[in-house]
Amino acid sequence: MKGVVFNVLEEMVIEQCGMLAWNEILEAQEIEGIYTAGESYPDEELFGLVGSISAKTEIPAETLVGAFGERLFKGLSERNPVFIEAESTLKGFLKSVHDVIHIEVRKLYENPNLPDFEYEEDADNTLLMRYRSPRKLCILAEGLIRGAAYHYDTAIEIEHPVCMHKGADHCDLIVRFL
Ligand code: ZN
Repeated sequence: MKGVVFNVLEEMVIEQCGMLAWNEILEAQEIEGIYTAGESYPDEELFGLVGSISAKTEIPAETLVGAFGERLFKGLSERNPVFIEAESTLKGFLKSVHDVIHIEVRKLYENPNLPDFEYEEDADNTLLMRYRSPRKLCILAEGLIRGAAYHYDTAIEIEHPVCMHKGADHCDLIVRFL
């Protein structure tokens, strides 16, 4: 996972719980916690931090990962405003993630290990995003979508009827625009 993801996690914890809490979480994981945005760090380190934050705050890891996804959208779009300036609607933005945004991300960061998205549109007010990633971070993807919805000031609901955590080889994230 790229250092920028750890940078945003650190920002979120410091905003919500303070610097002392972040330092205690790093100590609990016995890690230094210095992350360079473009460098890669082991996924296990991120999951370990999430586990420690969950233990400290008594927030279930899944809830935490979803909330982090929302905050991650904000952190990434503030750092790279070009990603959101190209699209004026949430639906346009979501549809640009795979073919436009991920290509731009690959120019910025070496081997970012991005998930794969396929799209299906059955009706004007829904967009199916089919998620595939060996990391199975579909809850993080849901959070990122909610973060984007907040940015575009668009009310949505997300259904997640097919999930890799329930034995499927992909996740279906159905975004309904209200
Ligand atoms: Zn899933």
